Amino acid sequence: MSTGKINVAVENIFPLIKKFLYSDHEIFLRELISNATDATLKLKHLTNIGEASVEYGNPVIDVKIDKDAKTLSITDQGIGMTEEEVQKYINEVAFSGAEEFLDKYKDTAKDSGIIGHFGLGFYSAFMVARKVEIITKSYKDEPAVKWECDGSPEFTISPADKDVRGTEIILHIAEDSEEFLEENRISELLTKYNKFMPVPIKFGTKEETLPLPEDAPEDAEAETKTVDNIINNPNPAWTKQPTDLEEQDYKDFYRELYPMQFEEPLFHIHLNVDYPFNLTGILYFPRLGQDMNIQKDRIQLYQNQVFVTDNVEGIVPEFLTMLRGVIDSPDIPLNVSRSYLQADGAVKKISSYITRKVADKLKSLFNEDREDFEKKWNDIKVVIEYGMLSEDKFFDKADAFALYPTVDDTYFTFAELQEKIKENQTDKDGKLVVLYASNKDAQHQYIQAAKDKGYEVLLLDSPIVSHLLQKLETSKENISFVRVDGDDINNLIKKDEEQISKLSDDEKESLKTLLEETINDKSYTVKLEAMDSNSAPFMITQPEFMRRMKEM
Ligand code: ADP
Ligand code: MG
Repeated sequence: MSTGKINVAVENIFPLIKKFLYSDHEIFLRELISNATDATLKLKHLTNIGEASVEYGNPVIDVKIDKDAKTLSITDQGIGMTEEEVQKYINEVAFSGAEEFLDKYKDTAKDSGIIGHFGLGFYSAFMVARKVEIITKSYKDEPAVKWECDGSPEFTISPADKDVRGTEIILHIAEDSEEFLEENRISELLTKYNKFMPVPIKFGTKEETLPLPEDAPEDAEAETKTVDNIINNPNPAWTKQPTDLEEQDYKDFYRELYPMQFEEPLFHIHLNVDYPFNLTGILYFPRLGQDMNIQKDRIQLYQNQVFVTDNVEGIVPEFLTMLRGVIDSPDIPLNVSRSYLQADGAVKKISSYITRKVADKLKSLFNEDREDFEKKWNDIKVVIEYGMLSEDKFFDKADAFALYPTVDDTYFTFAELQEKIKENQTDKDGKLVVLYASNKDAQHQYIQAAKDKGYEVLLLDSPIVSHLLQKLETSKENISFVRVDGDDINNLIKKDEEQISKLSDDEKESLKTLLEETINDKSYTVKLEAMDSNSAPFMITQPEFMRRMKEM
């Protein structure tokens, strides 16, 4: 027997990286800006703990396009690298300097926001560049160096001309990637991935209109000034403490997240936990109405303020994907498949934490201002009812705030409803019978008849109501739901009430035959006893189970 070591031929690695490292070439920019951010945050940390005695200042990351030279450059004012560090961090593929830093400073740097961890990000530059240059000067008083590589495993290192601390990465954009020399394209990428990153990112300049002085004449023209075009908000609301934010701040942030969304959200939920996993974020309940088919995936997922995806499937419970907002967690393993995610322990905990926070928020909104909660009910019920159906824990919690409105706009909780109908609405086995309508106009006659008998009639009109009723019937004891036009309603009708028909026996017989032929559906029953002496002369009903079967 013999053992050996697999030999990776480096010549083969670059084409592989280029092809497979990331399926999306555009993320190279996110990776390089993440590195520039890390370099800046590292310096911040080192100056904070007194290990670097340089001025931190107000560092900015500068992204520039040079169309003539066909280059894209990213320049930071972070820690920079010495020649030795370039050898170590850049020339060793898959060695992560970010992880090394976190390891070295693990006592103090846990919350420093350092992003990198696989040691592969930098090489994503070769997905779009035929040649990459690094010009860097360390914060340690050492000469600047230049590293150059054309995508083959050979690189050169030489002395460089650079006085200021930091790193400049210059990408010589490959022919098949020239889209990344377009201002609009880069602008789009920066907005998508870097909008909330923690270090200011500059992309060109813009004109800003100065406010007119108070005593300016009416025809005065506003002056403009050229300022840096900073594309990000380094301190987004979700990174702050809830106690430091006003209602208006949450609304403003919603607008920042969804500039095209004109409706205000109904309310928000601030997520903030650091044990046993790290997660921050803000979720918003939009006005949903009856619409189950709203565009999902509006929740954006970030890791340390870097946008990762707006597909949160597998991370957030399905019923909450109808919400909007952001979630930021470094603890979500995104390098694994979605189906694996759902089985991941950390992700499961995250998902149940979010569910619990949403339930708690709903409960406190209900307790604090019930009237307002009732007003919002129609816009939030789809989420709540869907959640009750799909998550048992949520179902249990929802007992405290799920509402059951009547056709007359009275809103009961389930307990209140039971209390209200327990005297008057039982069947022969003593089971509580809840009557409900799904369409006020179409079922008007039946509703009226039930009300005349003193019954409560709920109005349950969400698209998933038949599933929810099934769930309620199996989870709650001794209760059944019957639609006002269902034939089971007869079990309730007090038998001692004499029912007088307005029709003669002959009229009844021919009418019954005629109606049955017209309907031509055996699941319906035609009854010719009057529902009530002052309502319709006959009634067409269908057993509850037949109707639900058709709806499911
Ligand atoms: P990771 O970010 O996961 O550590 P990368 O491949 O993205 O891996 O980067 C490798 C290493 O190169 C970084 O950890 C860092 O030490 C160094 N590096 C890359 N870009 C810069 C930069 N702009 N300034 C200073 N160091 C950098
Ligand atoms: Mg990186």
